[in-house]
Amino acid sequence: APGRTLLVLGHGSHLNADSARAVHAHARTLQGAGFDEVLTGFWKEEPSLRQVLRTARYREVTVLPAFISEGYFTEEVIPRELGLSHQGRVPDGGVTETVAGRTVHYLRPYGIHAAMTGVLLDRAREVCPTWTPERTALVVLGHGTRRNPRSKEAIEAAARRAGATGLFAHAAALYLDEPPHATDWREHTGGLDVIMVPFFASEGWHTLDTMPAELGLPGPVSHLDGRVVSYARPVGTHPAVGSVLTRLVQEAPARPAPVDADHAAAWAALTTAAEGGLDVGELRVTPQPDGAFALHHAADAGESGLTRVPLDDLAAWTGRDNQGEHRPIRTRRGLPRGWLARVPREHLRAALHAVYPAVTEEAHAWDAGELPVTPWAETAARQSGRYRPVRRATPETVQAARERLCAGCLRTPLWAGEPLAATFLSGGTGLPCAEACTLLVSDVAHLLEAPHP
Ligand code: SF4
Repeated sequence: APGRTLLVLGHGSHLNADSARAVHAHARTLQGAGFDEVLTGFWKEEPSLRQVLRTARYREVTVLPAFISEGYFTEEVIPRELGLSHQGRVPDGGVTETVAGRTVHYLRPYGIHAAMTGVLLDRAREVCPTWTPERTALVVLGHGTRRNPRSKEAIEAAARRAGATGLFAHAAALYLDEPPHATDWREHTGGLDVIMVPFFASEGWHTLDTMPAELGLPGPVSHLDGRVVSYARPVGTHPAVGSVLTRLVQEAPARPAPVDADHAAAWAALTTAAEGGLDVGELRVTPQPDGAFALHHAADAGESGLTRVPLDDLAAWTGRDNQGEHRPIRTRRGLPRGWLARVPREHLRAALHAVYPAVTEEAHAWDAGELPVTPWAETAARQSGRYRPVRRATPETVQAARERLCAGCLRTPLWAGEPLAATFLSGGTGLPCAEACTLLVSDVAHLLEAPHP
């Protein structure tokens, strides 16, 4: 039947599994928004922005950047990595383009929605249930970035709208990275009581620990120089953000469209192969007599006492290795051992996507001769921001990064010219890597900064 895919995109992290938590929570909330599937994608984790469209089942895809403000990521990185021709500010109502046969509706980030003012006030009330308007200042805290002044607009608009409610004697937008600096909050609030609300998407170590310390606040509610200073939790993790997101995605002009034929063919091939028992990387998929499938680490075959993992927990469970380390690139060796998932046939796709996102679609495309390979030079030329220096990396530096990272990865780096005869779908064991991942790009950047011995 025709349907619509919703993609919720976030930044993610190479280092910290918690960074993607807010995006996953938003995706769960949006399961009730009327789409036929809701998927996530990340800049620094898998499924990556480059892969994620291929994982969409339907030819109609709504893309929501789960970002708090407009700027470098929403205006440059995400459109570019998704293959949109649009660059720059996204107009009201979003941008609609066709990418590889799919109609993509790319929306503005949720943080600029006027309804976020209500969320901001909710956060303020949480930390300070009552205040006297004429004696209280609101400080909206943002990161700020000189690279794109528009990233400040959401913060300034939020402060302006909150100020217009008449609930504060004064409302100011202050920044961590640029003037007016958050550390100067005393100068901007006179002798008033202060409520500070971080206008951030997620609740990181930075928000909870380093920021209050940098601002000289001993706790969420501090009595300093005869006034009360309250420090709220970030707006992005408030449950009410769910209804803002729902309104945003429901306003998009998406209509149900057919299932993508290549996607359907890839998963039909996977299911057929799994019916005979299949290894995908370190994962073993075994058919069960009742038509379900069992998934576990191939090295755990025959083991008893494996921990049963429900499908909903599978992505998070396999996103860490047995030492608890984050696995941003899922095909790097280190799939944890000791677990077992049993899934009905109709959930095999979701289970495999949770463990190894995008590998089935990419393997099927490679077997069909339809997986475009992006050589390193092209990937490097596309990089911007802090990764721009990789454009001048020598072949030796790229080779050094490959030896450090690709050697521990189950994928074959086709982008570096390595051959791959048969994938796990066509009788072999290979997993194609059509383009250097962001972990490799980042490693090349680090090698350029501080060459390893
Ligand atoms: Fe794996 Fe290397 Fe490809 Fe990254 S670039 S996914 S480490 S093969």
